[in-house]
Amino acid sequence: MIKKLLQRVFKTSSKSTPNSGKKAKPSYTNAKRIHSKIHRIDRKLLSTGALKTTEGLQKAGFEAFVVGGAVRDLLLKKRPKDFDIATNATPEQVNRVFRRSRIIGRRFRLVHVMFGDETVEVSTFRGSHIGDDIDAKTAESGRILRDNVFGNQEEDAVRRDFTANALYYDPSTEEILDFHDGVADIQAGILRMIGDPLTRYKEDPVRMLRAIRLSAKLGLTIDKSTEAPIPKLAEALHDVPASRLFDEMLKLFLSGHAIESVNSLRKHKLHHGLLPMLDVVLEQPMGERFVKLALKNTDDRVLADKPVSPSFLFATLLWHEVLVAWQKIQDQGENPIPALHIAMNDVCDIQAEKLAIHKRYSITMKEIWGLQPRFEQRAGRRPYALLEHPRYRAAYDFLLLRCESGEIPNELGKWWTDFANVDADKRQTMLLPDTAPKKRRRRTRKRSASSKATEQA
Ligand code: ATP
Ligand code: MG
Repeated sequence: MIKKLLQRVFKTSSKSTPNSGKKAKPSYTNAKRIHSKIHRIDRKLLSTGALKTTEGLQKAGFEAFVVGGAVRDLLLKKRPKDFDIATNATPEQVNRVFRRSRIIGRRFRLVHVMFGDETVEVSTFRGSHIGDDIDAKTAESGRILRDNVFGNQEEDAVRRDFTANALYYDPSTEEILDFHDGVADIQAGILRMIGDPLTRYKEDPVRMLRAIRLSAKLGLTIDKSTEAPIPKLAEALHDVPASRLFDEMLKLFLSGHAIESVNSLRKHKLHHGLLPMLDVVLEQPMGERFVKLALKNTDDRVLADKPVSPSFLFATLLWHEVLVAWQKIQDQGENPIPALHIAMNDVCDIQAEKLAIHKRYSITMKEIWGLQPRFEQRAGRRPYALLEHPRYRAAYDFLLLRCESGEIPNELGKWWTDFANVDADKRQTMLLPDTAPKKRRRRTRKRSASSKATEQA
């Protein structure tokens, strides 16, 4: 029993490598070694953290490489978002080399090494799961449920998704180790799946979304055989946990190339069932215009290095669904404000079945939506109160998008722009006559549920 347990804990794949340091045998015999004269990566573009991590590990006798997206981005002359390191040292060994480091993740254990503000992610080479029934499990559909077997570098390269993502750069020699002709693919502008694309998508359907996102973001063409299975496998995305789908969609929307990515999702028939509303929204002319404007706005901000709010983005993506539901509930006799709140909750609930929008985002989304009717109220004290609302700015930006898309008159957005910018005297003159019937002061202290809802809106 104990022996079995120990075998499980220490199990590595057959050609296993995470090892004892100094005696490490390099495992890159099958790789092409690409000289810096050919790949032309400028070593100075590596972060301090990436350099110190590889140096530290190599000094301790381990292999260590910059891997994945960073190498790909450097080859494409783009600034990498972050630097990931791959090594043959186990997480514990990495942890021992760096004082400021910690092991994270329970199943897929990684090490975070900290250098000032920078965190470098270090992963141990992972191996093949085939024929292994302990550490890697596969669902009936072929989807990998766990993937935590250590292996050697060659095995690590095979389990990565695209050839462009399986490149290992050694800062000490400035060579790239290339197991799958990724450098040639990048130079030819091609995104190509490693291995059989159909099997690889079945193992992990999120790879389809990664293909769409990375090709749009990096300007790479998806290779024909890598592209072919995608429309047929769209259904497989239903099996992916909603929270993982959300993270991936967020990356896609915040890539700076959201418009292209969404067009590509549609072209590959992946938008159905991803954001359950998105397919409907994109098929209504007004909704499509609004979403496209919102995505364009987001892309511009990301490319200008300005912050982007996921809540705002998701609020725009789902707004036209809220509008439809809101109208329907009012047609059934409900008052506008309570009807809006019911509609917002319904839309979020339906959405959550597919794509778990984090609560911290959905609360803000609802605030942005809930404030929209208040922009109609331009008399008395109300506009002043709205200006003071903590979500005013986001709700106002949202209002402007609604105007720009043609949903509501431009005049309303213009009024609010002016009202926020003029001095107090001018503001007074801008107020519209108060035509609402005067409310009598209530004597009772208890307020009814519907008046509370009105105040919250
Ligand atoms: P980005 O620029 O968005 O960070 P990336 O390719 O670096 O793109 P990460 O999610 O940071 O994406 O993943 C790092 C590396 O891990 C990838 O380059 C790839 O080698 C591997 N990887 C990530 N996701 C998968 C996946 N679903 N299947 C196989 N390999 C993956
Ligand atoms: Mg990355």
